Amino acid sequence: MGIRSILKYSAPELAKVSEPLTKFPDSLEELARDMVQTMYAAPGVGLAAPQIGLNIRLIVIDTSSGEDPKGLVVMANPEMLEQEGEQHEEEGCLSVPGYHGVVVRPGWVKVRGRDLKGNEFTMESTDLLARAFCHEIDHLDGKLFIERLGILKRDLIKRKIKKQIRQGTW
Ligand SMILES: [Zn+2]
Repeated sequence: MGIRSILKYSAPELAKVSEPLTKFPDSLEELARDMVQTMYAAPGVGLAAPQIGLNIRLIVIDTSSGEDPKGLVVMANPEMLEQEGEQHEEEGCLSVPGYHGVVVRPGWVKVRGRDLKGNEFTMESTDLLARAFCHEIDHLDGKLFIERLGILKRDLIKRKIKKQIRQGTW
């Protein structure tokens, strides 16, 4: 299929808890390829399956934006095992285009998941990659970064988006 369209905030799929993958058919590779293409085209550093309307626990991340061939992470059923420290950085989301806010995330995370064949693997990461894992796992739990902002900032963004929806510009 290639590049998929990315759902925006207010789409019900973005608010659902997604289902773990229990089977790892060959077709999963094609879906992951589409997600990677969609992420690079956006461009973005991460994408979760619910953002293309599929409520399954699959994420892709590349904090090098395709610059480093080793930078691509494709993970099914990611689970946060451990986390440490704090980082405070601006965050955005392809499903909330045009809006940013400072979100507190752990400075270090240890994540376990499966590759497209169903083999388990574990990754430890810091900085932007740690942030991306947290952000994408949130998507699988039906949570957007705006839910992690202070209430004033969050409500302001939601009000602005509602206006854009009314005006047909969202
Ligand atoms: Zn996002």
